[in-house]
Amino acid sequence: MADDLNDTYTYPFDMPSEEAVKFSDGAIAGKPAGVPSSYAEGGSTRWTPEAISEVHALAQLGRYQVRGYNTFNKRMPTFDDLTFVPATMTRLPLEGYRESCDTTTVLGGGRGLVEKPVELKIPIYIASMSFGALSANAKASLGYGASKVGTMTCTGEGGMLEEEREASQTLLYQMSPARYRIDLDHIRRADALEIVVGQGAKPGTGGLLLGMKVSERISEMRTLPVGVDQRSTIRHPDFLGADDLAVKVEELRIATNYQVPIFLKMGATRPRYDVAIAAKAGVDVVVVDGAEGGTGASPELLLNHTGIPTMSSIRAAREALDECGMTGKVSLVAAGGIRSGVDAAKCLALGADAVMIGNGAMIALGCNSPRYYEDFARLGTAPGACHHCHTGLCPVGIATQDPELEARMDPHAGAERIARYLTAMTMEITALAKACGKSSVHNLEVEDLRAMSFEASAFTGVKMAGIDRAFDW
Ligand code: SF4
Repeated sequence: MADDLNDTYTYPFDMPSEEAVKFSDGAIAGKPAGVPSSYAEGGSTRWTPEAISEVHALAQLGRYQVRGYNTFNKRMPTFDDLTFVPATMTRLPLEGYRESCDTTTVLGGGRGLVEKPVELKIPIYIASMSFGALSANAKASLGYGASKVGTMTCTGEGGMLEEEREASQTLLYQMSPARYRIDLDHIRRADALEIVVGQGAKPGTGGLLLGMKVSERISEMRTLPVGVDQRSTIRHPDFLGADDLAVKVEELRIATNYQVPIFLKMGATRPRYDVAIAAKAGVDVVVVDGAEGGTGASPELLLNHTGIPTMSSIRAAREALDECGMTGKVSLVAAGGIRSGVDAAKCLALGADAVMIGNGAMIALGCNSPRYYEDFARLGTAPGACHHCHTGLCPVGIATQDPELEARMDPHAGAERIARYLTAMTMEITALAKACGKSSVHNLEVEDLRAMSFEASAFTGVKMAGIDRAFDW
């Protein structure tokens, strides 16, 4: 009986197989023998098998479904809808195997207000994923792995984990509206601060950590009861609009003695306006998290039906910074659905100064890897299809607080995988940048891209392949 949020209705992966509904005379349930197979497969374009399965789930549970991971909205354009157009005659490529391409990335130094802008060796860092959503071993792995290649990781909401601080050479400390464990000592031990006003997976809604993951340690860090679902607030108690936000930013600058930059992370909804407001309020870095961004737990309807694609949010954010004279003063970080260095390079070309990766880093750690088949089966899923981070029963020890499961995640082995993944991604970015004739990855530009679909061109303003004109409204 499904009666609490930890029960999982494994839509859409538990559709009955044909064998399960076949009658002894060979007919398929609902289909008289001898009719075309399209009848059995469902002819309605509205009541598809997935739509029917979803209604069954709602009727079974009596509430919306909750799950982890990211959107299953198949109609969202992907970075594969964009292609690079390397240098040929009009431009000169760099020698890919001989010439170098700079990847140094500085975030938050543009206003000249802080003593220690974030300086990274690569234009990629690890996204904000909380201790709570992830195990301590997974958090430490991310910290060690990121440090190995000279980049940053982020605490996520819920406070600073000592293992992560120790592992991370550069640590971004996140302050969520729920104010979990906001600690002045932690603020002063951070290399940068991040105010969160939303996330791409579920903009307009606060974090969700189901009771199964609220261990004694999490409970102590967040000063909330053990085993009880934690539904974070989304509205900051300290500010309602731009003027209050400016005061908050100044307060944080004073608290850190103007040493470290202030980031602001938002879910991508109206980036053209939201980014301009954040920049005007005085933050040093704006992080725009597109609708493809992941999460440990969310109402599924928000994952699938809110937010705008990462690719369109980057263009809108860049144009907003250009229009209000903040390019060069405020850095722009893009996130949401970035799988590879190729995706990351496209984000840089669209206008991002850096990218942040979450799901990709988890997969590099071993999420959905082909092991522990029986444990995946117990969750009603299989390696490659798992989206059960919300249950706390992660078979590979990443999204869990269960000590036995967590022990499957070796922080040092995980760190090696993260370091190799980030190194490989960076090689992919530089390979593309050199092919486009750039001596720095930050010289990638929109002109280096062409759109392979009308949607991608319309969403981004990138010229269509071949005809060299953007989709014209
Ligand atoms: S393997 Fe673990 S981290 Fe990956 S989707 Fe499943 S529960 Fe989440």
